[in-house]
Amino acid sequence: MPRMDTADLNRRPLLPLIIACLVLAMFCTGCFGETPANVDWATHESTGASASADGIQETLDTYASALVEKDRVRFASILDQENPAFTEQELQRFDGLIEVPFDRYYLNLISQTESEPGKVAAKVATAYTLRGSFPELPDLRRDAYFLVRRDGGWKLAGDAGEQILGMKRDARFEDFGKVEALEGDRTIVFYQSPQTEVAQQALTMAEASLPRIEEFVPGASLPKVPVKVYKGTDEINQTFPGKWQEWTGGASRQLGEKAEQGGEIIIDAEVFQETDKTSPGYNQKMIAHELTHIALFPLTGDRTPPFLIEGLADHVAGIEDVVLLKNRLQSGSDFSPTLSDLYQPGGFSALLTTDAATLAYEESDMAVALLEERYGNEKVLALLREFRRRESDNVNQAVLVDEIFRSVLGVSWNEFENDWRRYVLEN
Ligand SMILES: [Zn+2]
Repeated sequence: MPRMDTADLNRRPLLPLIIACLVLAMFCTGCFGETPANVDWATHESTGASASADGIQETLDTYASALVEKDRVRFASILDQENPAFTEQELQRFDGLIEVPFDRYYLNLISQTESEPGKVAAKVATAYTLRGSFPELPDLRRDAYFLVRRDGGWKLAGDAGEQILGMKRDARFEDFGKVEALEGDRTIVFYQSPQTEVAQQALTMAEASLPRIEEFVPGASLPKVPVKVYKGTDEINQTFPGKWQEWTGGASRQLGEKAEQGGEIIIDAEVFQETDKTSPGYNQKMIAHELTHIALFPLTGDRTPPFLIEGLADHVAGIEDVVLLKNRLQSGSDFSPTLSDLYQPGGFSALLTTDAATLAYEESDMAVALLEERYGNEKVLALLREFRRRESDNVNQAVLVDEIFRSVLGVSWNEFENDWRRYVLEN
């Protein structure tokens, strides 16, 4: 899909939302985490080093707890002073994270190998949670460190990522400068100081969206949702290489399979500011849309029709006009995707053109608008629950959709689709 320019943005304010969602679909289908490295210990896994392994985990524990407790002296105490460049880099990292309210920092030894006496390379798994945010650790990330034995204890002495994991690690948000935090009641926005203005706007918009989200997704006890404001596309691409070529404005990403791991929102400050000038009001909708996705994660399963997910997110955010779809229906010409294409789990990932994407969202918006108007929000939620409950059923998606529409709404899929056509033409 072509990148949006601002002229397009003016003409068709819905488009950035579409692209944000395609990006989201990418997250759902692919793993948006860092590229997993399959490079493992080739040879000499250290033998007889189990005694030192305990000491290594202690060093890692000190590193993690010092970050949580903001104890710079303790943090510095496990860094190898004979490697000043690394020590300096880690202290800068500590200072850059001082405003981040970690609740738990997990840093665990996976395996180690001794390259020479008193020097090991250690592979670790790491993740953290934030105070007041989602309780479960997100999916673990791999890191690797060199450690050296000094005065009877193990000190961190360098980054062993390239040697041990076979790759340079991807950039992380904190690599772009000291992380600032703005905490609202229900969101926590992270940013670097040049992005202060966008961060403040994002916080206000996110907080303002929550009552409406909770009205439509009742019981969605959203803890504080992290929102990361990146300077621009370059920084986002460095952090998630190859994961979003078609970037505009904002997207949400799930931090793990479990609902308790939650999700976060990512914002491109440059696009955000541009959009603010060209399409006032759009950013608010974008954030509401992405927050709705995060609120819906617990209700979403592998078989949930994506038109329900995208339509509901648009419904909460405030639906735009559906011009293209109405034209196509009025002219009687065939169009793709059909609403049935969009109940397939991969339905949104398969959209290749701007027209197809626009249609897909308009179709979803109208389907959810019809459901809300005729059956009520409770039934929309009941549909979501039923799709989740039956996600492992051994029937094809068409049969499953038909059965669930019949059991929850009392209409067949074909009846619903016909009602939907009439509804689009009448509205
Ligand atoms: Zn979406």
